[in-house]
Amino acid sequence: MDYSALKPNMIVNVLGTNYGIYLDVSEEDDGTLKECAGYCDKTTKRICVGRAVDTNLGEYSEYRKYVIRHELVHAFLFESGIGGDTVWDIDGQEHPEHMVEWVAMQFPKLLKAFQEAGVL
Ligand SMILES: [Zn+2]
Repeated sequence: MDYSALKPNMIVNVLGTNYGIYLDVSEEDDGTLKECAGYCDKTTKRICVGRAVDTNLGEYSEYRKYVIRHELVHAFLFESGIGGDTVWDIDGQEHPEHMVEWVAMQFPKLLKAFQEAGVL
């Protein structure tokens, strides 16, 4: 898909680099989305999120927020010089995807806890 003619739905500053976020991209327009709900392209600084394909999701808007968080975590890792597809072999169990998932899922709770503790 040629994204150059499209305007992103939003632009987010990730450690000084702007990432364009494109929402509701169809699998037909971007074949990469046949394999995943979204992805972060470190070369073009683009985050693409597909359309809802799982109609069993009752709260798709919440799921989409989660996918955007997940891909933004990848962007932060890329901009920190940490490749998202590199296996970190700590006890043979650690892998960045697990870390990315954890941050994406728990960040809202972390933020709330930090705010409640007044440590931001
Ligand atoms: Zn991921």
